[in-house]
Amino acid sequence: MSLRSYIQDHPAPLVWAWEATAWALRRMKPLFEKAGMERSSAILKPPEVLVKGLLFNCQDCAQCVLHYSGMTCPMNCPKSLRNGPCGGVRLNGKCEVKPEVDCVWVKAVERSKKTPYAHEILRLNPPVDWRLKGQASWVTYSLGRDQIPTGTDTTIRYATEALQKEAK
Ligand code: SF4
Repeated sequence: MSLRSYIQDHPAPLVWAWEATAWALRRMKPLFEKAGMERSSAILKPPEVLVKGLLFNCQDCAQCVLHYSGMTCPMNCPKSLRNGPCGGVRLNGKCEVKPEVDCVWVKAVERSKKTPYAHEILRLNPPVDWRLKGQASWVTYSLGRDQIPTGTDTTIRYATEALQKEAK
């Protein structure tokens, strides 16, 4: 097991780090608004890439959902799926495309149970907005730019809500 996998399998320190980072980023919003998303990203992106690259193999999507996916980066899925596994996930929990590696979403579900955000695994994440490519997700998070409604019913944010609506 790699050190990165070990750290992600024991996510308590990652949760603490995220809570502290999110707290700071929310307070920096006025600064980011004043400087603009591009200029703010130019400053924050290098440290973000370094830290999240080492810890999560971050693929730089600029709309981070780590705290919704068990501190596991869904962009490491070969199909870049952001809302759960594909139909090809193997019975042993391995990836359809790369049978030698664990399915990102199997790991995400397992790890999310060890975080305070277990319920967020059912969240419907919007598709990646590629216009944000190159920005720092710390900045897009702070500015709320990463939250883009998806689908025709933008009031539905969780899979459970969609199922309840379907059952009516
Ligand atoms: S979800 Fe996006 S920003 Fe977050 S670690 Fe993965 S690629 Fe990086």
